[in-house]
Amino acid sequence: MKGIIIGGGIAGLTTAISLKQAGIDVAIYEAAPEIKPIGAGIWLAVNAIQVLKHLGLLEIIRSNSYALEEFRVTDYDGNILQKAFEKDVIQTFGEQGAAIHRGRLQQNLIDALGDIPLYLGKRCKNLDTENLIVTFEDGTQIQADFIIGADGIHSIIRKHLFPFVQLRHSGQTCWRGVADYSLGLQQATEMWGKQLRFGIVPILEKETYWFAVSSKALDFDAKKATKSDLLQLYLSFAPPVSDIISATPQDKMINNDLLDFKPLDTKWFKGNICLIGDAAHAMTPNMGQGGCQAIEDAYFIGQAFKKHKNPLQAFDFFYKKRYKKVKEIVVNSYRIGQLAHIRRGHWFRNFIVKNSPKSLTNNRLKKLYSIDY
Ligand SMILES: Cc1cc2nc3c(=O)[nH]c(=O)nc-3n(C[C@H](O)[C@H](O)[C@H](O)COP(=O)(O)OP(=O)(O)OC[C@H]3O[C@@H](n4cnc5c(N)ncnc54)[C@H](O)[C@@H]3O)c2cc1C
Repeated sequence: MKGIIIGGGIAGLTTAISLKQAGIDVAIYEAAPEIKPIGAGIWLAVNAIQVLKHLGLLEIIRSNSYALEEFRVTDYDGNILQKAFEKDVIQTFGEQGAAIHRGRLQQNLIDALGDIPLYLGKRCKNLDTENLIVTFEDGTQIQADFIIGADGIHSIIRKHLFPFVQLRHSGQTCWRGVADYSLGLQQATEMWGKQLRFGIVPILEKETYWFAVSSKALDFDAKKATKSDLLQLYLSFAPPVSDIISATPQDKMINNDLLDFKPLDTKWFKGNICLIGDAAHAMTPNMGQGGCQAIEDAYFIGQAFKKHKNPLQAFDFFYKKRYKKVKEIVVNSYRIGQLAHIRRGHWFRNFIVKNSPKSLTNNRLKKLYSIDY
């Protein structure tokens, strides 16, 4: 049986490794002509870590990432609204999350492919859903027994299966960067201001990943923003926000609008073609779970093919395992983003966040991080 995966991002790479371990041969076709260590940082919560451990990848990820001890949500002035501790996570799951540069994560996954073919410069242009034939932009074609669409939020595979899906704009735009900056703390912080947020995540001893989210309604041209524009925008935020922005080369800053789409009310597959990762369930990044859920997909696709050699049955098993959990995360992540950027009533918002019961948060996190379902 020959399977192909379109897209060599987090979902495509981890799924290929998972399928190989389930005894299924696949090849990956990735649009990018070369692999560059681009992107900023990413938080791999313990649900993703458990899967990476299962796939035998944890050691390499640990040696390239940073272990955090504490997470804080504060107001823009640094006053604490909420705290969570990784020691609680370790107590429940025996492991903790990891903060890592995306480029390093991607390289670690590519190195772990072994003899799984990864073809670069292969942008899928067309899909014959009846005969399972993919046509690439370079004119070449390939036929497969099953196809996995791991081609991200703008998925061409999804457009062929479910052309009615509309992307949703969250009303927020996000800059990300990696600063040569030593935070000196194993602590991640998200600071909430008025329609502005700033996140600080150390990803190595001397490297700090940051994200800055602003409401689009603010009078600001995000795409053209320079470092000094951002310094001005976040002027009222407590230290070390300005220092971190200042320590980031302008060409290492990236900007994206935050998009998702409402959970599909169809299954994620049609015949022997299935979507995974952002292609199936893109979410806003407010819970730091998009990549983690892509990695969870990889785990359950592997489990599905261990149980069922018929792709259609495997995809059905996979979908039934995953859709409820994913739907909840897409919905909650969107809501958190809207709450964080509320136009009025910041004091009340902060009061609610500060006074939400710790036990409620802990129970939610336990459910979120569990892959035993
Ligand atoms: C600001 C921000 C912060 C985030 N932070 C976190 C976080 O801390 N933790 C977390 O877990 N998640 C986070 N996420 C979400 C995470 O980045 C995504 O959910 C994750 O990258 C999805 O992986 P994927 O492989 O499905 O898609 P992608 O990463 O988009 O990969 C898709 C791949 O498919 C390729 N491709 C696209 N079209 C084609 C085509 N036609 N033919 C062939 N190949 C194609 C692309 O080149 C790409 O390599 C964040 C997202 C954003 C925007």
